[in-house]
Amino acid sequence: MKAVVFKEEGKSNLLDVEVPKINKNQILLKVNSCGICGSDIKFEEGTSVKIDKGGNKRSMDYPMIIGHEFVGTVVEVGENVSDYEFGERLNVMPNLPCGQCYYCQIGHHEMCDNEKVLGYDYNGAFAEYIVVPERAIRLNGINKLSDKITSEEATFVEPVAVSINCQYKSDIRIGDIVLIIGAGPIGCINMQLAKFNRAKKVIVAEISDKRLELARKFCADVLINPLKVDVVEKVKDETKGYGVDKIILCCGSHEMQERSVYMVNKLGIINYFASLPHLKPEITINANLVHYKEIVITGTHNSTPLQNKLAYELIERGVINVKDLITDRFVLDDYYEAIKTAKSGKGMKVVINF
Ligand SMILES: [Zn+2]
Ligand SMILES: [Zn+2]
Repeated sequence: MKAVVFKEEGKSNLLDVEVPKINKNQILLKVNSCGICGSDIKFEEGTSVKIDKGGNKRSMDYPMIIGHEFVGTVVEVGENVSDYEFGERLNVMPNLPCGQCYYCQIGHHEMCDNEKVLGYDYNGAFAEYIVVPERAIRLNGINKLSDKITSEEATFVEPVAVSINCQYKSDIRIGDIVLIIGAGPIGCINMQLAKFNRAKKVIVAEISDKRLELARKFCADVLINPLKVDVVEKVKDETKGYGVDKIILCCGSHEMQERSVYMVNKLGIINYFASLPHLKPEITINANLVHYKEIVITGTHNSTPLQNKLAYELIERGVINVKDLITDRFVLDDYYEAIKTAKSGKGMKVVINF
């Protein structure tokens, strides 16, 4: 089968490899669709940022096939596995917690100390076939697709699940004014979730006019291009001088992380959803504003099995529109063209179909 294989950091090749064999406790899928995630671009650039318990960079288990936002059709079921049948379409959560560590035991599976990740520790889905690991089956980290949802749409379950986690961590409530910085796929998903959570106004800041225009479609109330207007002033104008209740940063910008403390109101919450480049993770902020305004600064990077189920339901029910986020489609043979397109940021989501 064809597969995108990493032999070392930042070096992948589209190769012909053996179709994997499953053991009694696994499932084999034929991949239908796999979305390109920002982290896949980082793998290609050799700037992946997964960290271990101690905050150190965690190496990928080479050789490794990447790709984790996927849907596949069951072609083989291990004899110890029940509940899954030939021909069913499945979406599998990629970040698989252990269920045993301290964080899993207190219900924070997204913080698991021993998580295993598809496309990082297990082979991923930029390949014609993928093995569903035993851990995913044991955790029930799998969604069976109904005929109401396309495979392409269900590739968004993971980004929507992480965004749901972000909404929880940002404590989005009825009547909030929410500022979303960065209108890529994650920004557009969070806009929709904020409205679903009854935010009264969603302000979006984005430096690409094209993406800003797309954001209008996803219920943004106010659009700001920080290259054209002073974003801090404009946010003040839109909030009677108070600042917004919540800020979600969906782009890895040092400047915006630093300026966010000037745009949030007293008792507000700032969520650094996007990470910064791992070679320059430092910023300088006005800590006295955090002190006097009692601002909470948090982040989000993962999701739980429960949030994955919820994400699937919200997409299937049409609460979150992901279909209109797909701007570019490729086949696996054109993988490097697809990565280039995703990296250019000209469109929104790039999907590989098989
Ligand atoms: Zn992803
Ligand atoms: Zn754990």
